Amino acid sequence: MQEKSTDPGAWHLGRPPERADVVVVGGGIAGTSAAYHLASAGVEVVLMERGSIGGGATAAAVGVLSPPVRQPFHETVHFRGRDMAIELWQIAARSIHGLAQFLSERGKAEEAELDLSGGYVLAEPHTTHQMRLAYEALFRNGLPVSWISAAEVRSLFGGRGFTGGYRIEGGGSLNPAAATTILAQAAESEGACVVENVDVIGTDLTPDAIICRADGVSTKCAAVVYATHIDSGRFSDFVREEIVPIRAQGLSSEPVPRVFHGSFSTHWKLNAWRQTSAGRILMSGWRHDAWDRAYGQRRPALDERLQGDLHHWFEASFPTTAPLRVKDRWSGVFGWTADFLPMVGAIPGSPREFIITGFSGGGVPFAFECGRSIAQSVLRGTPTDGCGMFSPARFQRT
Ligand SMILES: Cc1cc2nc3c(=O)[nH]c(=O)nc-3n(C[C@H](O)[C@H](O)[C@H](O)COP(=O)(O)OP(=O)(O)OC[C@H]3O[C@@H](n4cnc5c(N)ncnc54)[C@H](O)[C@@H]3O)c2cc1C
Repeated sequence: MQEKSTDPGAWHLGRPPERADVVVVGGGIAGTSAAYHLASAGVEVVLMERGSIGGGATAAAVGVLSPPVRQPFHETVHFRGRDMAIELWQIAARSIHGLAQFLSERGKAEEAELDLSGGYVLAEPHTTHQMRLAYEALFRNGLPVSWISAAEVRSLFGGRGFTGGYRIEGGGSLNPAAATTILAQAAESEGACVVENVDVIGTDLTPDAIICRADGVSTKCAAVVYATHIDSGRFSDFVREEIVPIRAQGLSSEPVPRVFHGSFSTHWKLNAWRQTSAGRILMSGWRHDAWDRAYGQRRPALDERLQGDLHHWFEASFPTTAPLRVKDRWSGVFGWTADFLPMVGAIPGSPREFIITGFSGGGVPFAFECGRSIAQSVLRGTPTDGCGMFSPARFQRT
C-alpha cells in the first residue's frame, strides 16, 4: 500500500463535537479535499472517518495524476460532445494545478511525492487503433499531447511490444495517501475538527438540523457531505443504485534504477504505474478478461492470478527493469458510475445532503477541484465552473 505521511496529525484522540455547521463523512482524498475547502471558507467543519485518514481506496491508488486517461478521449467526444469532453479535461487540469499549488505553497510537494513530469499512455498492438483515435481527437482539440513512437518507448523506458503512445503535458503522479494526510492537516489548521475511528451509522433529518449518528456520539449540523465512496449507499438509496464496485489489484517492488518519471498507463488504465524517487515501482490493474472477479466485488481481496498477470506483464514489457522483486501486494475497490463521471453535488430531493463519490477509478486528478465544488455548492448552492456535469441529478429518473 501507499506509505502515508510520517506525521499522523493530532486528530487520533479527538471526539466529534456536538454541533458543527457541516459534517463530512469519510476521510479519503475526496472527503479531506471537501473539508479543507469548507474550512478555508470559514465553515465550522467536522470530518469523521471510520478508519484512518487516507486509508480507504485512496491508500490503494497508485497515484496517476493526469487528466482523464481511462476512457479514450474520442469516445468521450462521441458520447458527450466536444465541448463537454474538453471541459472535463480542463476541470482535471485545474484540479491538478490546484493540488500541486496547495502542496508546493506548504512545502509539502516532496512529502506527497509530487512528480509533474507528465503522463504517458502506451499503446500495444491490440490497442493501437484506439490509442491513435484518442490521440488524434486530443490533438485536434488543441489539448497538450504528443505522440511518441515505438522506438522512443523502447529507448526512453526499455519498453518492448509497444507500438507507441502519447505523452500528456501537465500532471504526473503523487502519493495519494500522503496528499490526503496533508489535506486533513491543512483542514485542521483552518479550524476543522478531524476525527478518526468514528463509524457514522446513519443520519436523521429533522426540519432544522441533521443529526449524524455514530457509536455513542452524535453531531448536529446544518448540512452533511458524504465522501464515503463505495459505502455511500448506507446514506442514500439513490446513490446505492448508481455506484458499482470494481475490485483492482496493486503491487509494489523493491527499488530498481529510476526509469519512469510521471505516470504511466495502458489503454483504459488496465495497467497503471509510477516509480517513486526511491526507485520502487507501484502498479495497479485489473483485466477485462477477469470481469467476473472484478465487477460488483465490494471487498478487497488478493487475486493471485491477476497479481501474477500484472507482474508478468510488467516484466515482459520492460525486460531491462526486470526482474521485479515484489515488496508488497494489495487489493482495493473503486466505485464506478454508468458514465464514468463522479457524483458531486446535492442528493436529488434532499438539498442539505451532499455527495462526492463515484470517481470511477480516477479520483486523484479530480478530487481537489470536486472538493472545492462541493464547498461552493454547500455555501452558495452552485458548483464551480464546469462541475455541474457531475451533478447527481443527472441519474434521476423522470
Ligand atoms: C488498486 C487501485 C489503484 C488505483 N489507482 C488510481 C490512480 O492511480 N489514480 C487515480 O486517480 N485513482 C486511482 N484509483 C481510484 C482511487 O483510489 C479513488 O478514485 C479515490 O481514492 C477515491 O477517493 P475517495 O475519497 O472517494 O474514497 P476513499 O479513499 O475510499 O475514502 C472513503 C472513506 O470513507 C470512509 N467511510 C466509509 N463509510 C464511512 C462511515 N459510515 N463513517 C465514517 N467513514 C466512512 C472510508 O473508511 C474511507 O476512508 C485506484 C483504485 C484502486 C483500487
